[in-house]
Amino acid sequence: MPLAALLLALLTIALSAYFLPKKFLSKGNTKEGADAQILEPREGNNGEDAKTKIPISVNYHLTRQCNYSCGFCFHTAKTSHVEPLDNAKRAMLLLKEAGMRKVNFAGGEPFMNAKFLGQLAQYCKSTLELESVSIVTNGSKVTSTWLAEYGQYIDIMAVSCDSFDEATNIKIGRGTGKHLQKFKQLAELCEEYGVMFKVNTVVNRYNWQEDMNAAIRAIGPKRWKCFQVLIIDEENGGDKTLRDAREFQISDEEFRFFCDKHGHNECFVPEGNGVMKSSYLLLDEYLCFLNKGVKGKTKSILEVGVEAAMKDVYWDDKGFQERGGEYDWTKPSAGGCGEGKNPELEF
Ligand code: SF4
Repeated sequence: MPLAALLLALLTIALSAYFLPKKFLSKGNTKEGADAQILEPREGNNGEDAKTKIPISVNYHLTRQCNYSCGFCFHTAKTSHVEPLDNAKRAMLLLKEAGMRKVNFAGGEPFMNAKFLGQLAQYCKSTLELESVSIVTNGSKVTSTWLAEYGQYIDIMAVSCDSFDEATNIKIGRGTGKHLQKFKQLAELCEEYGVMFKVNTVVNRYNWQEDMNAAIRAIGPKRWKCFQVLIIDEENGGDKTLRDAREFQISDEEFRFFCDKHGHNECFVPEGNGVMKSSYLLLDEYLCFLNKGVKGKTKSILEVGVEAAMKDVYWDDKGFQERGGEYDWTKPSAGGCGEGKNPELEF
């Protein structure tokens, strides 16, 4: 080939590589997803690609203490530690700077520390202006006084209810007989204070055959998350843990049976074990990310920063995306299973 033609061919190859869309590159510099933006590739400990991901949605388990004793609990009271409020605020600020858009306060029972919770929620919503601040609670300790003061800073309250038969709740350990009464009151209070109401149900040995359709329609939650009961070895896996959830376990077929019965509800969101295990970013009471069932936790984000901690956490951001982790999470918002309610607050 004459030299000029050779040079022309080389130039053409170089230019096409430069203009080739990034999606066709096997290990690109940027990859944007709905949930996580991968900033830069680097080599991980095992020679695999490890990536710095943005912690868009974080679950902060601010305490392990709880006033209930659900037999399948997988975040048990192994410590009574709660960070000082200033530390928790600093952690929220670091996460916001790293790209967090939603925080979910969980436990244990977060209302064991109601004032701390309220003040932190206020900081996240008012000062940090997060898109969404939510709380997962068993509902038993939420009061109208608390909602009157802090409800304005809460987008979503997710309240646990595993059965609409109180005897089943008692058998599970979800309270001692007043859970449903409190649950229904709280649904009304949330509507009154403009907080979106969500229901969390753990599908287990004692409720997998229950028909909850009518009760859910009557409550009309924005979302109804149904989790397959999960065993985490170090939390509820057997004789040496605070809980032994093995008697609550159900098969995938039994979980599917429950899903088939309730899947037609618009608000229904099922989460089997496969999705649950690693699609959540979990920050524990010491501000460390957890690697549940995979490996030990990371160092505190106050100690090493968010980016370093994120490099050491196993978070299945694809799983997060697949389970619809990013949804319409700022109030007010229409939709869900309710009918004929205040359109501004219909949830
Ligand atoms: S209410 Fe939640 S944190 Fe408390 S025991 Fe039950 S599952 Fe565990």
